[in-house]
Amino acid sequence: MRRRRADRRPPRARAAAAPSPRTRRLTARHGALAALLLLAAAAARAQQGAPSLAQQGAPGPAQQGASALGERIDAEVARLAPGIVEIRHHIHQHPELGNREHETAALVAEHLRELGLEVATGIAHTGVVGVLEGGRPGPVVAVRADMDALPVTEETDFPFRSTVRAEYLGQEVGVAHACGHDVHTAVGLGVASVLSALRDQLPGTVVFLFQPAEEGPPPGEQGGARLMLEEGVFERFPRPEAIFALHAFHDFEVGEVGLNPGATMASVDQFAATIRGKQAHGAYPHLGIDPVVMAAQAVTALQTIRSRTLPATAPSVVTVGIIRGGERFNIIPAEVRLEGTVRTYDEGIRRQIETRMREILDGVTRAGGGSFELEYRNNAPATINDPELTARARSSLERTLGAENVATTEPTMGGEDFAFFADQVPGVYFRLGVVEPGTESGAIHTPTFRAADGSVAVGMRAMANLVVDFLQGWH
Ligand SMILES: [Zn+2]
Ligand SMILES: [Zn+2]
Repeated sequence: MRRRRADRRPPRARAAAAPSPRTRRLTARHGALAALLLLAAAAARAQQGAPSLAQQGAPGPAQQGASALGERIDAEVARLAPGIVEIRHHIHQHPELGNREHETAALVAEHLRELGLEVATGIAHTGVVGVLEGGRPGPVVAVRADMDALPVTEETDFPFRSTVRAEYLGQEVGVAHACGHDVHTAVGLGVASVLSALRDQLPGTVVFLFQPAEEGPPPGEQGGARLMLEEGVFERFPRPEAIFALHAFHDFEVGEVGLNPGATMASVDQFAATIRGKQAHGAYPHLGIDPVVMAAQAVTALQTIRSRTLPATAPSVVTVGIIRGGERFNIIPAEVRLEGTVRTYDEGIRRQIETRMREILDGVTRAGGGSFELEYRNNAPATINDPELTARARSSLERTLGAENVATTEPTMGGEDFAFFADQVPGVYFRLGVVEPGTESGAIHTPTFRAADGSVAVGMRAMANLVVDFLQGWH
């Protein structure tokens, strides 16, 4: 099938598929896999020069509705997925931490350029934006893919598993795509490849956002979706009327997806409280002011925010993840530091928790005779799936994957940088099953998280159809 298709290509298209000088240069730098991906991109581009469906005796333009494009998407996914899976292996084997995605970004940019997209790099440090203008007029839609890996030492049996080590916060750590962002990046490139092949028929514009540092930039640095927006991604490039993203999910098998309208991921705040007292000998507490006792009271009292301040129907989490203070068993230290996170789905509740946290720390430290300082940082807002857009997206996913493979998810208290984008324009974020039936995977962020290759083609089909359905006005 692939050979027959290739035989039909006009000579110009065959020439376009030959390695360009740039391809050969990159081959020297990144090896065979990079060459493979560039060839896949060149082949997809060449496909644009192939005879149109009408010329091949297929239904004429009047008969080419959503289903005709849907069939072409399926054919392109079947043709391109093996090459995209190779790219996925390459990215997986060469993971890079947030704000350090230099090689990944170079690979992404090169692939998008080979497809003929307008490409911008260096956005929010290592972010890449690719704009695909369709051959027909229509709306603008964006697709987000994240590129960063995590400081996790991989323990899977993948032949392409990561053995990369890097320095993180002054320590040497293993680096792995333990959150599936290798799959997201590959799927993003796959969707760009598929839609490039359909470019002439595409009614509108697709903006691909490859973002760095989804997991948060390293301490002291800016980054991620917030910085991309500050740097004007929605002004410098066509502003999307909707934005879509998918995320690998260890609770679904390959072929399944899930989504829910409204809040789907929580807001993510980070706090650090320093509780100050007065140092003393452990045997003479009356000569000091004990920050350990104040910290203990504060940790307990902070839990009353959820149980006694907020309505029981308002989901939220207040977690103290670090409590640190003291040097020796018989010394009362001068200060204790608490660090933690706050999660919720509602902006009002979010502000209320911060206010109450200050009041509690103030009350507890006053009672103990000490003082406090609170650094409270708003990271991502809650990820809200636009209800109307989600209903449409659900229908699209059901058409593509079968209704029985589209689950309704429960919102989680996990956070997602995509929320910054979905805060600006209506967005839909859905979960992509990555577990091959009959195999097992650890949860995301663990060493045994194991996203199967089969999820790449499913993600490509699901996202490409979603984008096309949106551009066609959901017909
Ligand atoms: Zn993650
Ligand atoms: Zn993630």
